[in-house]
Amino acid sequence: MPPRLHADILLIGGGVASARCARTLRRRGFQGSILLIAEETALPYNRPPLSKELLRGEVDTALIAAEPDGWYGRHDVEVWTDATVAELDVGARLARLEDARAISFDPCLIATGAEPRLPDVVGAEHAHTLRSVADAVEIRQAAVGDGPGAPTVVLGGGFIGVEVASLATIGSSVTVLERSDWLWGRALGETISSWASQHLARLGIEVRFGATATRLDVESAWVGDERVPAAGIVAGIGVRPRDALATAAGLEVADGILVDQARSAAPGIFAAGDVARVPHPLADGDRIRVEHWHAAREGGEAAALGMLGLDSGPPRAPWVYTEFAGQLVDVVGWAPDFDEERVLGDPASDVFGVAYVRGSRVAQLATVNGWVPVEQARAFVDSRPTLPALSRLATI
Ligand SMILES: Cc1cc2nc3c(=O)[nH]c(=O)nc-3n(C[C@H](O)[C@H](O)[C@H](O)COP(=O)(O)OP(=O)(O)OC[C@H]3O[C@@H](n4cnc5c(N)ncnc54)[C@H](O)[C@@H]3O)c2cc1C
Repeated sequence: MPPRLHADILLIGGGVASARCARTLRRRGFQGSILLIAEETALPYNRPPLSKELLRGEVDTALIAAEPDGWYGRHDVEVWTDATVAELDVGARLARLEDARAISFDPCLIATGAEPRLPDVVGAEHAHTLRSVADAVEIRQAAVGDGPGAPTVVLGGGFIGVEVASLATIGSSVTVLERSDWLWGRALGETISSWASQHLARLGIEVRFGATATRLDVESAWVGDERVPAAGIVAGIGVRPRDALATAAGLEVADGILVDQARSAAPGIFAAGDVARVPHPLADGDRIRVEHWHAAREGGEAAALGMLGLDSGPPRAPWVYTEFAGQLVDVVGWAPDFDEERVLGDPASDVFGVAYVRGSRVAQLATVNGWVPVEQARAFVDSRPTLPALSRLATI
């Protein structure tokens, strides 16, 4: 039997939530041992470029690392790549790996992230999903492998789908199939959806609203009886949290691990990033799962502070950014069920804002191409502003 090892703090998962937790622990002076276990063969890296610069072949994989070269060694953080935690014994504070190694810890972070969904249609196996560097490389090859004009079909006009559509800029002929009438399923409102659609159209990207793929094969997506040719098909239809480990360990899980300031109900067990569901003031205290880069980093920080017995304070307004067709949109806040959108400035100028109102308050704000600096937008939404406060923001 392999020897039992010990890590003072165990970080399960090799994404930015774990990397940020390790960094925060060291910056706050923690001197005990830290072990990070990562299923992928690479050190933790930032995923946003996978659907942007890396997909288009503009940057090398070395540039997307979460920490600079040599950081883990310099800060005495041990990292095991190509290693998977298969079982967690919460009571005994013991993790077992797939290769039967066992590690005792106190405490640990579960930051196992999320995995993309596949469409529930015949031939779903012909769709690529995009979560890793290898996925991005495969998708790019399919898009440009047969020379200019190779068709890519993107399933879903959400964050990933709209970004992947920018494959058009490297010569692919892109069609986006979006089931609803709006990009981002109306989560960003009608104004930004219409404005973005125009930018995609200028790149020659065809967005077909109200269209759902009903069948896929090796060289096509089918919308009913209509064949849409595809050298590559990319599914961008959402993710599900990788919470099976936590469920099996008996933690409270409901589409994500339930946590408060990154603490689960089980002493010494923390969770952060895409796998965690946190109570949020902007959701009236309900738990939300924010599947975005800033939330993962901030969750990792909150977990580190919690492990050190420090208070990380209430969660800030969620912040997601997206880049497509040369445009940058930052969205702060939480308002999937907004009542009204207010346009601030002129969308035709490509620099504008949209406020999403729920009840009498602005619950979410989009700032397009730096209409207001994002930190300012975030502080604004964090202040739970009422509608008249918008005039203050608009005059900045
Ligand atoms: C293509 C793409 C583009 C994105 N673009 C943006 C963007 O523009 N803006 C934005 O805000 N957000 C974006 N995101 C979202 C953002 O990248 C995620 O929110 C973030 O990566 C979540 O980090 P995480 O550490 O929680 O999980 P992950 O990044 O998913 O990392 C978890 C890691 O843990 C590993 N793992 C899982 N189970 C185990 C186990 N049992 N043992 C060991 N290891 C395990 C996984 O293999 C994975 O490597 C994007 C995501 C993708 C995929």
